[in-house]
Amino acid sequence: MAGLLQGHIAAVTGGGSGIGQGICLAYAREGARVVVLDTNPEGASETVGLITKAGGKASAVTLDVTDREACKAAAGEVAKGGNISILVNNAGINRRNPITADAAAVAKDWDDILSINLDGMFNVTRAFLDQLRATRGRIVNIGSIQSFVHVSWPNSAAYTTSKHGVLGFTRALAAELGKDGVRVNAIGPGLIETRINAEARAKNPDMVASVMRHTPLNRAGKPEDIAGPAVFLASDMSAYVTGSIIMADGGFRTV
Ligand code: NAP
Repeated sequence: MAGLLQGHIAAVTGGGSGIGQGICLAYAREGARVVVLDTNPEGASETVGLITKAGGKASAVTLDVTDREACKAAAGEVAKGGNISILVNNAGINRRNPITADAAAVAKDWDDILSINLDGMFNVTRAFLDQLRATRGRIVNIGSIQSFVHVSWPNSAAYTTSKHGVLGFTRALAAELGKDGVRVNAIGPGLIETRINAEARAKNPDMVASVMRHTPLNRAGKPEDIAGPAVFLASDMSAYVTGSIIMADGGFRTV
């Protein structure tokens, strides 16, 4: 039986680790050819290795999403193998410092987080836009529960701002690109066990407990928990879905 993404080429930023790697593996299982875009060449080749070992097709391009010119060059390089029809803007970082902390440190957090999580999403989307319009493609942006709230996650003004921005960008692009047949949606993960929060989880069990009190499914998520919604939003199963965010948060926003 053909996979849900047979015939598609999918580019996934931050595909060398965590949620991005989980999405790459699921897309390849569904028949897509996957292009892993990551700053981390080791992580990216690990993802490519896992996919090819399982019989799928994948390649990697080392890319820092904050480098606008490099994004354009990467899109040109990828196009030589065919236009992508799926783009996942997943690369992201997080740091949690109070806004009242040392001014230079807070400013650095702000600059780094906004430039990767928000400017990076713009840079990559703009670079691949012609390909996505040519293929009537799909864009999947990775938001967060912090696209809506910040109360359980204090000290994260920059990250909360960036993830609200991901949702705004998703809605604005859905409105603008619908006429071209390009669908643009987001996923809002809850607490997913990956490297991004490994230190916070280890150092701050109270914070994890407070998130779990808000999580009816009463467990942290795994990257595989985000892969299903990502396949849905990239496939024809979501043909009439655009401008939406699917929360994959164990029910966090319901309580
Ligand atoms: P992760 O395991 O740290 O993976 C992030 C990946 O992005 C890493 O491979 C990282 O490379 C890469 N990356 C970082 N900066 C980059 C840049 N400038 N250009 C290209 N790639 C870059 O974290 P994750 O949890 O899977 O996070 C993926 C996305 O999910 C992020 O947008 C995050 O905000 C979002 N999210 C995560 C959670 C959660 O609980 N885990 C919840 C909600 C939303 P390096 O190895 O070089 O750092």
